[in-house]
Amino acid sequence: MSDFKIHTLGCGSARPSLRHQPSSTVVNHRGNLFMVDCGEGAQLAFMRQRLSFSRLQHIFLTHLHGDHVFGLPGLIGTLALNGTGGHITIHTFEEGMKQLSAIFDYFCRDTPFDIRFNVIKREEAVILETKSLTVRTVPLNHRVPTVGFIFEEKPKERHIKADMTKFHEVPLTMMRRIKAGEDFVKPDGTVICNAILTTPPSPSLSYAHISDTAYMKDLSQKIGPVDLLFHETTYLEEHKAMAAPRGHSTARQAAMVARDAGAKALLTGHYSSRYNDDTLFQKEAAEIFPNVILNREGLVTNVG
Ligand SMILES: [Zn+2]
Repeated sequence: MSDFKIHTLGCGSARPSLRHQPSSTVVNHRGNLFMVDCGEGAQLAFMRQRLSFSRLQHIFLTHLHGDHVFGLPGLIGTLALNGTGGHITIHTFEEGMKQLSAIFDYFCRDTPFDIRFNVIKREEAVILETKSLTVRTVPLNHRVPTVGFIFEEKPKERHIKADMTKFHEVPLTMMRRIKAGEDFVKPDGTVICNAILTTPPSPSLSYAHISDTAYMKDLSQKIGPVDLLFHETTYLEEHKAMAAPRGHSTARQAAMVARDAGAKALLTGHYSSRYNDDTLFQKEAAEIFPNVILNREGLVTNVG
């Protein structure tokens, strides 16, 4: 199993339905959890997937529509309820910080739990860097300010050839530098080239989360050749005339973005409740782009 995977908590859209939950996704990178959007019921879906609240330290909000946000007071309330402290950072627009702070100030007072905000803008920017991951925003075209989030692994360490490091008597204290690509200089001055001691690192993987947006021709260049692209597929082509004015895309348009970006796979979602057969989204997208993964609640998708 990959150590970079996507858990789908909800892949429905604004109007409630019995078939899908509102938007919420968890990016799981080496056991560190990053939530993107938090529609109603997200915390229960999170628990159903046996994910651990203590591993969740960042929540990213694409925009301030209820179907992407209404689960947040419940989730934060639960985190604060533990009473054991801890913290979470919510990445949102200034308006989001204003509205949400008012809720948390009232419902989560007198708790040691620390709710932090990172104010983002509708622009291309790096908004988070961890030791192994970078998260950046891309502006989208929706009815309110909206961004997509792109999660990119930083370059990884080279793999040690254990037999060779043993043969050349590389001390353990040097291993970190050898993994970073340094040559090894023996006590007698002999240089052992790094390529003798290591093999190239595993490729760095990337995931793009694009919801909600009307079709944008230039978006593919901003996303780049990601390993996995979630792009909303709210409508089918038969309702294309409805999609753009409402700031949404069809399955075919999502597939065009995936194809033009050079993505390896496309994950569907944000389905309008007017449809009863999700396979139609996959069918329509697959006419343009071959590797379409049909999203559903509870699905876990490997990135790469
Ligand atoms: Zn929306």
